[in-house]
Amino acid sequence: MKITDVEPIVVSWPPFENSFWTSLNRIGQVSELVVLVHTDEGIIGIGEAHGGSMHYIDNTGVAHISGAGSTVTDILKPLLIGENPLDNERLWSKMFGLTYQKGWSQIGATRQQILAAMAAVDIALWDIKGKAANMPVWRLLGGYRNTVPCYVTGGYYQDGKTIDDLTAECKSYVETGYNAIKLKIGGVSVEEDVDRVTAVREAVGPDIDIMVDVNEGYDVRTAIRAARLLEPLDIRWLEEPVHWYDRIEGLRQVADATTIPIASGEQALTRWDARDLLTRGGIKIMQFDCTRSAGITEVLKIAGMCAAQNVNLALHHDPQVHGHVMAALPNGEILETFPSAARDPIWAELFSVRPEIVNSQMTLLDRPGWGLELNEDTLEKRGVRG
Ligand SMILES: [Mg+2]
Repeated sequence: MKITDVEPIVVSWPPFENSFWTSLNRIGQVSELVVLVHTDEGIIGIGEAHGGSMHYIDNTGVAHISGAGSTVTDILKPLLIGENPLDNERLWSKMFGLTYQKGWSQIGATRQQILAAMAAVDIALWDIKGKAANMPVWRLLGGYRNTVPCYVTGGYYQDGKTIDDLTAECKSYVETGYNAIKLKIGGVSVEEDVDRVTAVREAVGPDIDIMVDVNEGYDVRTAIRAARLLEPLDIRWLEEPVHWYDRIEGLRQVADATTIPIASGEQALTRWDARDLLTRGGIKIMQFDCTRSAGITEVLKIAGMCAAQNVNLALHHDPQVHGHVMAALPNGEILETFPSAARDPIWAELFSVRPEIVNSQMTLLDRPGWGLELNEDTLEKRGVRG
């Protein structure tokens, strides 16, 4: 089998009317980089990468093929045409070499853009491998089970949102069957956040798991103070508590000071970043995002390291891809999902065929590859092809 074309499509949705805020960052808009890898045997692999920094979005909210999207066509595609798409390790190494070859900084893409473009390509190669083997990827990677526990990420800050709005939101997740909810904290004072989380705990009762995500909003001392105040609320994990500049040693100091397990990893770009979080950061939950960086080939190596450190996986974002990894492996703990179409139109609109989430469980499909079909109407309406 040979690769005949590599085609990026940037899909973007209009800006939100009322932006969602994490502790420090505004989420004003959603987009996804879809990459189709075509072969001479008619199999087309679907890959995806996400993250607003990957492509230019103009002030009307329309994304353009740039950043990771143009990295796919201008830089990766010439390396891939004519190659056998089943040789994912060799092709991964060939692409990764771009990030440290002589003159790498002159090739017209940042390392992060190369790794994001690689993620989408590598994910498409695994789709091809599954389709060629007539096997779902979750089974190809290990087939540990065909269902995965899921949680919902919500509790964002929004203009005008009250604690009553927050508790109503969380009760609505429970009513739709979710038994685990992650809330954003770190955007207001520690005391106000403790009040928010306390109100949610009282609203949903003791049987619903609550996680909290600081999105790197605290310094170490504030993180430890917040963790201790949150401990009585039975928090399943405390995510990314510490500012970006101290995300290994500072994280370890927080981990040592609280009984709440620490989660991190969505910012890690490679297995080496992940290794440092595992061996020195004191994390108990690994959240590597292989749709943001480096793809399935890399997350499998990280999952193996995690298994040896008694760390479970709760991979970040893009459940239609990460669900397969979590189903494949014994240390797949729980999958992040965004059931609200208002917050995540990708899950709601990008696919005409994808798995369903019922009662906090995703049941993987018994279809080859990712088992996904792209919604052609959405691609037509929202997509820009490179
Ligand atoms: Mg997070």
